[in-house]
Amino acid sequence: MLGYCSNSPLRCEKARSMEALNQVDSCCPECHLYLLPAQDISQQLRLEEKVLQFAILLIAFILLTSAYIYYSNFV
Ligand SMILES: [Zn+2]
Repeated sequence: MLGYCSNSPLRCEKARSMEALNQVDSCCPECHLYLLPAQDISQQLRLEEKVLQFAILLIAFILLTSAYIYYSNFV
């Protein structure tokens, strides 16, 4: 499992460095505490990226539409 050490940054070197650890037993090699899964965070980031792209496309569409309406009315 890929994850980060769940220990306090003061107590574990791996937690301090926020190093992504790929351990089969999902335990920190330094302090043997459970890892926090990193997979969910990356999926969430990908979703946020898609929402952001959609928002940018929507804003561009609204701008183009309003420019079109403006020109068709006043030219
Ligand atoms: Zn640790």
